[in-house]
Amino acid sequence: MITRFAPSPTGPLHLGHAYSALLAFDAAMAAGGTFHLRIDDLDHTRSRPAWEAQLKDDLRWLGIDWPEPCRRESDHMSEYDAALDRLWQMGLLYPCTCTRRDIREAVSAPQEGAPIHGPDGLIYPGTCRANRPFETIFAGAHPRPRDVTLRLDMQMAMGHRDLFRRQIDETGSHDLAEFTETGAGPTGQTGLVTFTPDDMIETVGDVVLARKDFGASYHLAVVVDDAAQGVTHVIRGQDLFEATKIHVLLQRLLKLPTPEYHHHALIRDDQGKRLAKRDDARAIATYREDGAAPQDIRAMVGI
Ligand code: GLU
Repeated sequence: MITRFAPSPTGPLHLGHAYSALLAFDAAMAAGGTFHLRIDDLDHTRSRPAWEAQLKDDLRWLGIDWPEPCRRESDHMSEYDAALDRLWQMGLLYPCTCTRRDIREAVSAPQEGAPIHGPDGLIYPGTCRANRPFETIFAGAHPRPRDVTLRLDMQMAMGHRDLFRRQIDETGSHDLAEFTETGAGPTGQTGLVTFTPDDMIETVGDVVLARKDFGASYHLAVVVDDAAQGVTHVIRGQDLFEATKIHVLLQRLLKLPTPEYHHHALIRDDQGKRLAKRDDARAIATYREDGAAPQDIRAMVGI
């Protein structure tokens, strides 16, 4: 069993992070496996070495350790580039120049009906797909543009039907892709989670895989990283459950293995609000300063 914890060094580690890290570490140790720490520092505008040092110190204090050197995403840009090149050559990516505001305005046009939210916010209305330069449809013949936002053409990706393992079963449903969930999604989904091309087109849409400012997007990097580290069990918060469909699709497209997923409930504050990294009052460092012991943190998160 190989598990991992992949924090972004953009703020202090809080109880929610400690919960995820402890679950992933304990699971690997109980199975005689390996736990990896991975630094998700693609967002170089917000990542800071000081936060990385602090989170490592907090994790070690909690009794967690990992093989060094740990993987830092910013050291692996060429691997993300290679994955993007491959998708580009398959003709599945197109450049997008829309701002968040453009997207908001396009989906709130009166003829569009109620805007639909996907794992990354509003489902992209396809403006730049429709305006796509002719030559990018035959993308393989042209080099991938750099320093631009690239979206996955979900309808085109769904055309790669052989990605979907079961073709037609006796109930008549077809083209299913799936992953095994050993925890639970936000509405209790567990066991074999299946999804169809229509699900992907309607409820996920054309997600961003390359970012103008950071090169690769989280979805692209997480899939490449999990495969590179041989991760067998992804243990993380329920907020990422819906995004797992994107990750499984990318694994199919890039011919990478699909790990088993375990999404856990999120740690909330007394008002039921999800703890964000900005809630410094709940930072592990603050509990440490107040004299808490690692066992107290375990008890607080219910382990
Ligand atoms: N850096 C990501 C986060 O903190 C990692 C998500 C994941 O575990 O896949 O949300």
